[in-house]
Amino acid sequence: MVSYKELGLVNTRDMFSRAINGGYAIPAFNFNNMEQLQAIIKASSDLKSPVILQVSKGARNYANPTLLRYMAQGAVAYAKELGCKHPEIVLHLDHGDSFELCKNCVDLGFSSVMIDGSSLPYDENVALTKKVVEYAHQFDVTVEGELGVLAGVEDEVASEVSHYTKPEEVIDFTTKTGVDSLAISIGTSHGAYKFKPEQCTRDPKTGRLVPPPLAFDVLDEIMKKLPGFPIVLHGSSSVPQEYVDIINANGGKLPDAVGIPEEQLRKASKSAVCKINIDSDSRLAFTAAVRKTLAEKPAEFDPRKYCGPARDLMEVMYKHKIIDVLGSDNKLAQLD
Ligand SMILES: [Zn+2]
Repeated sequence: MVSYKELGLVNTRDMFSRAINGGYAIPAFNFNNMEQLQAIIKASSDLKSPVILQVSKGARNYANPTLLRYMAQGAVAYAKELGCKHPEIVLHLDHGDSFELCKNCVDLGFSSVMIDGSSLPYDENVALTKKVVEYAHQFDVTVEGELGVLAGVEDEVASEVSHYTKPEEVIDFTTKTGVDSLAISIGTSHGAYKFKPEQCTRDPKTGRLVPPPLAFDVLDEIMKKLPGFPIVLHGSSSVPQEYVDIINANGGKLPDAVGIPEEQLRKASKSAVCKINIDSDSRLAFTAAVRKTLAEKPAEFDPRKYCGPARDLMEVMYKHKIIDVLGSDNKLAQLD
């Protein structure tokens, strides 16, 4: 048993309450390799932003759970080396699908876990979530639950259709389970293909897909039922078209990839939405830089020569999200 506190990590409680009151959102960036982690910590430390490092079940399998925990511990030390004396870094399990997986993460030093019972019948979701909360809270680990189903594909999480969160369920769910935050479904979606072309309109000038707007009316109703309660948005990459274009111009094939317009995420950040999950944009930035570098320098075979530019582009993207979309820069509790 390792306590996250020994690793220098924090849970989400305090940063969420500050984010709701301050009208901004905390970035939750997925990571599974060193370059991503370096870029996330560089961006959040330079900008004095709290940050949530997310690990999915797939990332655990890819990178090894123990190694990931030491990487998070290393991230705290790296942030301090970068001049951030009091970093606020959360190590969070994304889409935990069983009590055992959540327990294992708590025992390994995670400071926050998500239990995603959203695909289960309501009563089973309540029971499973409650069980995880009861275990995690003994160690002051915060828990995110989910109501409603997001469409799209992300690692093991896949669904054909989305079901918006039912506002009439949220009070009962949060009261019975004791969760610290709630992921909701209001039209965001996992992956780089968040909407099918038939769900979108097309910009006549550029030919690009224009996605349908998020269901802010559902969010408003949920906020009325749960005033001041931390809300989480999954699947909130914006799928920057410049990265898609670079990928497609250098041998890639991502036709009609489309995400959530940043304007809408900016609006959500100012509400009770206090955690916004971004994964695909990092994958796109990484892939764009690798493809471009290798296309321009076909003789290159030193991974540092193409993973380096990938890391730099991800850092630019993370900084843009923190400053221009979420507004979490200069929001550490202790800025000195
Ligand atoms: Zn998700």
